[in-house]
Amino acid sequence: MNIPYKSIVGFAVLSALIIGAGAFYDSDEFNVVGFLVDAFVFFAVLAVFFSVFLKRMGLPVQILVAMILGVAAGWLLTAVGKQALVTDYIAIFGELFILLLKMVVVPLVFVSVLLGVAGLGDIRKVGALGGKTIGYYLGTTGIAVIIGLLCVNLIAPGKGLESIRGQLEEEQAAIQAAEEAGETDEAPSVSTGMTIQKTVLPGFFQSPVRTDSNGVPILAIIMFALLLGAALTANGEKSDTAIKMFQGIDTAMVTLVFWIMTLAPIGVFALMAKAIATLGIDYVVQLAAYVVTVFAALVIHFAVLVFLIARFAGGVSPMRFLKGMAPAFELAFSTSSSSATLPVTIQCATERVGVNQGVARFVLPIGATINMDGTALYTTVASIFVAQVYGLDMGFEQQIMIFLTATIVSVGTAGIPGASLALMSVIFTAVGIPLEGIGLVAGVDRILDMCRTTVNITGDSVGAVVIARSEGEALEDVAA
Ligand code: ASP
Repeated sequence: MNIPYKSIVGFAVLSALIIGAGAFYDSDEFNVVGFLVDAFVFFAVLAVFFSVFLKRMGLPVQILVAMILGVAAGWLLTAVGKQALVTDYIAIFGELFILLLKMVVVPLVFVSVLLGVAGLGDIRKVGALGGKTIGYYLGTTGIAVIIGLLCVNLIAPGKGLESIRGQLEEEQAAIQAAEEAGETDEAPSVSTGMTIQKTVLPGFFQSPVRTDSNGVPILAIIMFALLLGAALTANGEKSDTAIKMFQGIDTAMVTLVFWIMTLAPIGVFALMAKAIATLGIDYVVQLAAYVVTVFAALVIHFAVLVFLIARFAGGVSPMRFLKGMAPAFELAFSTSSSSATLPVTIQCATERVGVNQGVARFVLPIGATINMDGTALYTTVASIFVAQVYGLDMGFEQQIMIFLTATIVSVGTAGIPGASLALMSVIFTAVGIPLEGIGLVAGVDRILDMCRTTVNITGDSVGAVVIARSEGEALEDVAA
């Protein structure tokens, strides 16, 4: 058996040192040697497990095992009172993994869209394809919202939950009282692990272009890529060198994503452990009916996408689609970010499902930016749930209003964790639900974020399959 001893020992030493050094600074009475040995053994076992035993299993199985181990570790360590170890230290690996994925997103989107357009060869085709893509995505988002509306009205999870509202108001009053009494003036102490996650790592790895609310909107980057691609096409042969250069960068980006994905098991392990440690199980129990409603509606929409739309409109067997996209689903679930998952979504759709490269590279970045079926569905259910808890009557008109705002505003939502919470305030304001109501659902947002992000990228990739077929591009043969 070919065991990569050096990499395993190197990885374990590095991990033990990062964690050991951090934890040492955080604690006065600390057995450094004991801790370092523990951390070393822990990471060495993890590395051996993945690089030796699971190596042959293929990426989807490796990530799945990592998810299960992460859940177990998060739960066990929290149960023995070591929650901080998970959220501050183990989480470093999850943060690193997400930062690396985000680092490649903008250049990848730019080059992908540009080459997608250049590949089409004619600017009129770009307009037609763009229009079709946007129309299709809006249509499926509308279907998602209708499924959400049906489920939340039928199940009515918020009826009879007025007591929760009282609890929320008490909590808010307590926070306000504490603020007024000046008790929150003390600066909270930040652990070394958190500093590594929030300051040190982003100092090295970050997207080269900021796309958050202070930066360049990703849609503007897509527009520029579209126009530059069109201009290159218009120049014919004179653009050959430039296009070759972009193709070279594109191939290198694929290699880079491949390298980053070797970190996927440890990254996903850490992300799941952290998610479990911060999940707020108490809230999940209290809001069980609501969580089940969102989940059921998401599952129904997922099934419609995969078993009806992908199958009949896209001509792909659900098995092939599910198997091919599995790594992307797992990443979406564990990162809660469709934007960070995009590099892997593109790879899975083209290399594992066999969607035509040109179409997928054009359609998927647009999908990850404007198409959020899961998000639109989720905000719809959450709005009506909160209205039910507050005893507000949401008549037909208000429901139509929710349908329109959820569909339209989801277009502008960023593919990052927790983005829906901001979006909800727009819907709440539109139909007159008190904004404090967001506090009711915030406690269980994380777990539902994992589920809705998976549905978001499913919607994007089913779109790529359907649109490729409508362009007469049959699925290519793939090894997977
Ligand atoms: N986390 C979601 C995504 O990245 C957005 C949201 O609904 O919060 O797709």
